[in-house]
Amino acid sequence: MISVEDARERILSFFEPLESVEQPLVDVLGQVLTEDVIAPFDIPPLDNTAMDGYAVRAADTTGAEPASPRELRIVADLAAGYMPETPVGRGEAVRIMTGAVIPPGANSVVPFEETDEPLRNVGETPTKGETVKVFKAAREGANVRARAEDVKSGDTVVPAGRIVRPSEIGVLASIGLMNVSVHRRPVVAILSTGDEITEPGQLLAPGHIYDSNAHGIAALVRKCGGVPKMLGIARDTVEDLTDRIQAGFNADFIVTSAGVSRGDFDVVKDVLAREGAIDFWTVKMKPGKPLAFGAFNTSSGRKVPHLGLPGNPVSSMVSFELFGRPAIFKMLGRSDWERPIVQAVTQDTIINTDGRRFFARCIVRPSPDGGYVADLTGPQGSGILTSMSAANALTIIPEELPRAEPGDTIDVMMIDWDHSP
Ligand code: AMP
Ligand code: MG
Repeated sequence: MISVEDARERILSFFEPLESVEQPLVDVLGQVLTEDVIAPFDIPPLDNTAMDGYAVRAADTTGAEPASPRELRIVADLAAGYMPETPVGRGEAVRIMTGAVIPPGANSVVPFEETDEPLRNVGETPTKGETVKVFKAAREGANVRARAEDVKSGDTVVPAGRIVRPSEIGVLASIGLMNVSVHRRPVVAILSTGDEITEPGQLLAPGHIYDSNAHGIAALVRKCGGVPKMLGIARDTVEDLTDRIQAGFNADFIVTSAGVSRGDFDVVKDVLAREGAIDFWTVKMKPGKPLAFGAFNTSSGRKVPHLGLPGNPVSSMVSFELFGRPAIFKMLGRSDWERPIVQAVTQDTIINTDGRRFFARCIVRPSPDGGYVADLTGPQGSGILTSMSAANALTIIPEELPRAEPGDTIDVMMIDWDHSP
């Protein structure tokens, strides 16, 4: 048997970040930039107002108070998106809307609330030619967003290596980019195997079960940034398995499920041995002991990595979480595949007698006394997929710990912080 760390290290050593491609901004969420992005101009490009109000010369408002307002002549009305045409001279003001460019001469913006504008009747908005009373002295620069206060022309706004989150997409759009260079998303071919497996939507023959693995794994692939490619279900015959696997040879990664435990060894092993070099491992973990990893050799000489997940639905998802997800992250140029691990107080007895690391499905929630508590999500059989669906975390019960009792503090790996049961 090999350890989880060994298995992961051997798998990851096969992968490298994929080549850089230009992709539309709308598609690059979660991808990694391969080039520094430099601002071609200042943001904001010009001084503009942060408030609706009056652009004034601060000196004209010195000493203003409700009892002794300063009265200014409105010389223009200015909306966002239009360049000012009228400067602000002494004793003058421009009525201005948030985002509009500060007119020449003005150095401060008095918000509506500090003028007599709110005191007027509805529909009597002051306009050019009228006057406005200012009730409070304006500070120079008040409510003005200065040119370049966010970004200076020539600054690196987003550096190479940065993972693109929604805020990066916003920043990249703010400098007018439509496309950026990122590591390409891997295409991950997904194949189920087994005579008993039926595609959802088809009639279920006696003794058959629906294919949950391919669909669950495809969703995980998509969630971690890969592009799933469904290869369907291979029957347990050499011909069908060979054909289906070859259909995945143009992918970046082939993930199969089932056929890697002892009972199935032969058909799958024969096919895999003929098409590439695949190792069959037993990993010191529960669920998910059997695992296959290697690479297929395509006729063009390319090697396509292959992860053979166990057939049991929970085992296949947990094994994908531990080995498939990091591989996809690495191809994306990401190294942040470790899940957050927190300490939680178990509410259950957890028995772990066979010397493997036990990743039991659990719900972790904040405890009223601080910290976290963990509840197992019911029976832990590796075929009981509903226990996975109810979970937001996996326990990490060490290989050498035979038992944890209610009240013990254990490590838990958060696989879904957002999921509140
Ligand atoms: P195997 O690895 O072929 O021994 O399969 C182990 C268990 O997982 C068996 O009970 C299979 O029926 C089940 N299984 C295999 N593939 C799938 C699948 N795609 N969806 C759901 N269950 C599966
Ligand atoms: Mg089988």
